[in-house]
Amino acid sequence: MAKILMVLYPDPADGYPPQYARESIPELSKYPDGQSLPTPDNIDFTPGELLGCVSGGLGIVDWLKSEGHDVVVTSDKEGEDSEFDRELPDADVVISQPFWPAYLTKERLEKAKNLKLALTAGIGSDHVDLDEAAKRGITVAEETYSNSISVAEHTVLMVLALVRDYLHQHDISRNGRWDIAEAVSRSYDLEGMDVGVLAAGRIGRAVIERLAPFDVKLHYFDQHRLPEDYEKKYNLTFHESAEALVPHVDVLCIHTPLTPSTEGMFDEKLLNTMRHGAYIVNPARGAIMDRDAVVRALESGQLAGYAGDVWYPQPAPEDHPWRTMPHNGMTPHTSGSSLSAQARYAAGTREILEDFLANRQIRDEYLIVDGGDYAGTGASSYRQSK
Ligand code: NDP
Repeated sequence: MAKILMVLYPDPADGYPPQYARESIPELSKYPDGQSLPTPDNIDFTPGELLGCVSGGLGIVDWLKSEGHDVVVTSDKEGEDSEFDRELPDADVVISQPFWPAYLTKERLEKAKNLKLALTAGIGSDHVDLDEAAKRGITVAEETYSNSISVAEHTVLMVLALVRDYLHQHDISRNGRWDIAEAVSRSYDLEGMDVGVLAAGRIGRAVIERLAPFDVKLHYFDQHRLPEDYEKKYNLTFHESAEALVPHVDVLCIHTPLTPSTEGMFDEKLLNTMRHGAYIVNPARGAIMDRDAVVRALESGQLAGYAGDVWYPQPAPEDHPWRTMPHNGMTPHTSGSSLSAQARYAAGTREILEDFLANRQIRDEYLIVDGGDYAGTGASSYRQSK
């Protein structure tokens, strides 16, 4: 019997379950690189349901209880007296989500004497102190690829929203106005622009492939160069570093993990090397940016727009300056939690738990830390970038 502590985002304010806009979601056969979709022995939910919130319970609560496990599901994660902190000391497994992260800091890991598995429902386990988890023999796992395409689609949406100035135009339309001159005064075509992709992993490559048909000039940097035939296919210009890439682009899409080497990377100095009036779309992690430097760059016009759905901390306080800075297209960390993505990361969570509880090996591609060291996906994306 294990104690499983799940920290999920709160239910919708007007109640669960919501009314669904569609009756089903498309069935996919595999991920773009051939990796198989999650393969749990069973699922107890209908794909397309809201699973990521407390009442959704990732669709695994009844199953876990029927197997005799002790399950706690909460969204209360802030402060020492939070339910999360109270339940943590004897938890065997913590499940959290990047959208509503239960930060597993060194101090919290010290308190979590029983913890064996820190499971991320989604992608991005930087809310866990990974070095400390490795030191303590805690396994960290996530559902690699489960929401990569969801984020790539959101990235394309944000690029177009910024460059065409869609949000401003929509506001004019919604407010009963017809001010065309005002509406188009910041609106451009993406066609012909230089677009940079920082980190060409699963999301970065999906963004490249989706933006190529817009007839843009594509540039990228990744710590490992892509194969020559791939570069040729998408007519990619490789740059030797992030610093070398950013002066050459009109639009920059950021897709690096948050690691010591990327934290705070986009400070005033780096932003000032970009073309005047460049756009940044960052659905990777908020802490890659210097928060106030982004605000100043938008106010001065150095940046023409900034969009992303990642903040720090999360949830962002009501007075976070990114909510109100000019020309922002922020969303509250939703890009990887579409109903479609939830079906995949919930099924992946169940697959990982089934393996963990049966003492079977967790799929290598899901591992971030295992056996006291970075492992699987974590060994390439997280460790080598330090
Ligand atoms: P991948 O692991 O597939 O790709 C990450 C890429 O970043 C790898 O190619 C890696 O290089 C590269 N990289 C790591 N550090 C650096 C660096 N310092 N400079 C340049 N490149 C670097 O991850 P995904 O594409 O699936 O996800 C990327 C990030 O997006 C996640 O870490 C997460 O933070 C964020 N994310 C956000 C979501 C959201 O809802 N907003 C959802 C999912 C992810 P290599 O492997 O070649 O060593």
